[in-house]
Amino acid sequence: MKILKSILLLLVTLSTAYGQVPDKNSIDQIITLSQSESHLRFLASDELRGRDTGSPEINIAARYIAESFRKSGLKPLPGADGFFQHMNLIQSYPPADGRLTLGDTSFQQGKELLVMRGAGVDLNTEIIFANYGLAEDLKGLNLKGKILVVKAGSESERDPRQFLGLIKTKQELAKDKGAVAVVELYNSPNIPWPMLINFFNKPQLIIDEGGKDELPYLWLQDAKNEQLVGFKEKKIKKASLVISDLVKKPLPSKNVLGMVEGTDAKLKNEYLLLSAHYDHVGVAQSNNPNDSIFNGARDNAVGTVAVLNAASVLGKNPPRRSVIFAAWTAEEKGLLGSAYYADHPLIPLNQTIYNLNIDGAGYNDTTLITVIGLQRTSAEEHIIEAARQYGLTATSDPAPEQGLFDRSDNVNFARKGIPAPTYSTGFTAFDQEIMKYYHQVADEPDGLNFNYLLKYFRSYALTATKIANDENRPFWTSGDKYEEAGKKLYHQ
Ligand SMILES: [Zn+2]
Repeated sequence: MKILKSILLLLVTLSTAYGQVPDKNSIDQIITLSQSESHLRFLASDELRGRDTGSPEINIAARYIAESFRKSGLKPLPGADGFFQHMNLIQSYPPADGRLTLGDTSFQQGKELLVMRGAGVDLNTEIIFANYGLAEDLKGLNLKGKILVVKAGSESERDPRQFLGLIKTKQELAKDKGAVAVVELYNSPNIPWPMLINFFNKPQLIIDEGGKDELPYLWLQDAKNEQLVGFKEKKIKKASLVISDLVKKPLPSKNVLGMVEGTDAKLKNEYLLLSAHYDHVGVAQSNNPNDSIFNGARDNAVGTVAVLNAASVLGKNPPRRSVIFAAWTAEEKGLLGSAYYADHPLIPLNQTIYNLNIDGAGYNDTTLITVIGLQRTSAEEHIIEAARQYGLTATSDPAPEQGLFDRSDNVNFARKGIPAPTYSTGFTAFDQEIMKYYHQVADEPDGLNFNYLLKYFRSYALTATKIANDENRPFWTSGDKYEEAGKKLYHQ
């Protein structure tokens, strides 16, 4: 009797672990402490030297992720090179000379001026001011041959990191209208101008747009809005702009992508995108004289392992919807890998119904899972319930003023309309405990709470399972700033 009972129990266990829609039991059997710790200690090892984009070591990480996908039974995406999506990034060096002259005042590259994009020019032409330089601002304006002057960001995007995300859009709009350069007035107190100079007056990594980004795009310091007032009052009508040629060196990089096909004849045409960036910031001088390797354990080996773990669950137990698993490159260089995929998707974006991204600086509360944008999509209940099953509480962003939602890879999909929150380890504030590790050499695998992380990985996989099996697909909460983009994308 006892033997029969054991056999029955074994059969029940086996049938839930393999070949069926995964539930909590099968997730718990597949995602183990040893497997998770092993992935993490490899990806965040000193040997991988901080997984810097362009380094030889990040390619070892990419290979490791790809082979892990293979082991989990994932298939490559159509149009990819196996599990890799290659892209050309460019290391762009600031121009030796850059000068903007307005009336009798000259502004210089590296002082009051930063050339953010574009090729060398020698211009002497009319200027025109157009608010933020977005589509509605340019309506009816004749920009042909003119230098366009705009405010940085937009009405809702007031953070310098968001300004960066808007450059490509504004540059394209201006170019389409015939402008010859864009000057953006920078007045954000969030990041003071000298810090920007430090950061941007040196080589930058950008996506190779095949010459489509030749239009010069500049930031002009305007902390006191003096220039803004001048332009609004149309005091300045002409300008000259000289930029010497920018040196650009190609730097190949890659995203790692795999997929599992859904089991439902209809729902398999809809894809859930599970993603995390796998790059970090490499090797550099640090505040610790004995360490120069930024291991990036929390940021973002943890996220990468969450995706690998979810792949091992769903690869062997496909859900009703199809699922894409993505490890993005070059997040730390400006969300580049995810931006590249969003512009060159291998599955049409309007079939990609949700992106559960994972990224984080660290944690200071191991009873929590923090989801940036928790209440912004209707998958909220799945996220909360999956966390609850592991004794964790899902909470929303404790620091909305930081604009975190628009600062990780998820935003490249949100802008296209795809509901896309970011799943993070539990934190209640950007306090000492977080800053101790955030972009520090101390962000090592040693000292991680692996028991907490195990619950975190499992709840991520359970959330993904719930979303991928739900008859109803999640969408933006009514009134969200990306709701309109979503309706447009999905033709609702
Ligand atoms: Zn990160």
